[in-house]
Amino acid sequence: PTVSPFLEPGLHTKPRSLAILQLSRDNLLPIYLQEASGEHDGYAEGAVVNTRYGSFPHSTMLNVPWGSQIRASKVDTGSRGRKRKRGPKDDASRDDAEENQPETTDNNNATEATRVKQAVADDSGFIHVLPPTPELWTQSLPHRTQVVYTPDYSYILHRIRARPGSTIIEAGAGSGSFTHASVRAVYNGYPSSAEDRKGKVFSFEYHEERYHKMKKELTDHNLDGLVHLTHRDVYNGGFLIDGTSPEADAIFLDLPKPWEALPHLSRRKPQTEAKEGEEWVSPLNPKRAVHMCTFSPCIEQVTRTVSAMRRLGWVDIDMVEIANRKLHTIRDRVGLHYQTDRGVNVSPHDVEEALDRLAEIEERVREQAARPRNGEDGAEDADTVMKNGDVAVKKDDDKASAAEQPPYQTPWVDGRLITKGEPEIKTHTSYLVFAVLPREWTEEDEAAAFAKYPCGK
Ligand code: SAM
Repeated sequence: PTVSPFLEPGLHTKPRSLAILQLSRDNLLPIYLQEASGEHDGYAEGAVVNTRYGSFPHSTMLNVPWGSQIRASKVDTGSRGRKRKRGPKDDASRDDAEENQPETTDNNNATEATRVKQAVADDSGFIHVLPPTPELWTQSLPHRTQVVYTPDYSYILHRIRARPGSTIIEAGAGSGSFTHASVRAVYNGYPSSAEDRKGKVFSFEYHEERYHKMKKELTDHNLDGLVHLTHRDVYNGGFLIDGTSPEADAIFLDLPKPWEALPHLSRRKPQTEAKEGEEWVSPLNPKRAVHMCTFSPCIEQVTRTVSAMRRLGWVDIDMVEIANRKLHTIRDRVGLHYQTDRGVNVSPHDVEEALDRLAEIEERVREQAARPRNGEDGAEDADTVMKNGDVAVKKDDDKASAAEQPPYQTPWVDGRLITKGEPEIKTHTSYLVFAVLPREWTEEDEAAAFAKYPCGK
């Protein structure tokens, strides 16, 4: 099977692959990269992405290393709308963009060429082309429902012990945010057969339209060999796949009434399902303790879920709420300061000026160091002076010369580290209830264990 770009994106962008365009820090756009002659079936219109930062033909984003910065094209499809006012930061990117332009639009196909209007390079910017990851997908996916966000699902996957080769049951699938994160967590290569349960996610969704959209998305992302999506109401239908067990090691329920699904997640036939004479199959891995998380927005749901868990033999039950707060850490200012001849502290305006000033300052320091002093006939070693940072206090007997010379200051100034927190914790998302169902231990298990590790022999 073709490997999903979420699991193994390779080093370069490829035609027909999903890519996430980062337009600005928190503005992400998923698109399917089209070859010039390809069908236009992505999220973005046509084979040119028009943004407020400029126009980006797909051809300029193909076969480049993931993470590349893509400069806006000179061409515009005309659908970009009004021009953006030029800001102070635009100059650099505009100049570079002109240099990096494809010389003509010949690499676009005829249809596209007719769509492309005149060159409008005067306000072009840049974007970055990123490989799809569950985190970026969560930020950019088309929302069909509330979704589970990265701070929650990273903790959940850790607590339910999702690891390569694990089998996960998930319900409901919703918008597929958790699905993408969980399939990456359990991926251990593509299974050799459909019957192979290891390293797969068994996902359930009862809303028909959501089911179909999700199904298409999984195919588009080459994940359908690893995520088995079933259209079903799990409260009534349970979690078996054509009557067989997915043998789940871990479970995640994002449902309005998790307690109605719990009886199906037992090791033995629950009394509520007593259909006499029928063989009952557990969807759980019989050889392992199973770890579960349920995700509920209100405490009444938590209480009912916990109560059902206790009655069904789940242990180690606890509840967690993730209170995520972003910390933004920046260095206040890293730059050069120098004193003008009048002793005023200024900082240079651009890199070239800074480098010139730095060279000038270093030269002055070297000259100072080379100049003979009172009581000395030799020059100071310039490096020593630089390291000590202040010629004037280098030696006690240098006081006289120090008075004559301006004190030397290191020309570079590291700004302070500033950490700003978000003013408030974002609104409550959900309560996470965790529980474990121990594995059962039969007489046969004991006999097998004894045969393998005989005690007292
Ligand atoms: N976890 C998902 C994500 O990260 O994108 C979001 C799940 S959404 C909040 C809940 C989903 O459960 C909805 O799509 C809903 O249709 C589905 N659902 C509700 N009751 C269900 C049931 N009895 N069986 C299957 N799916 C159900």
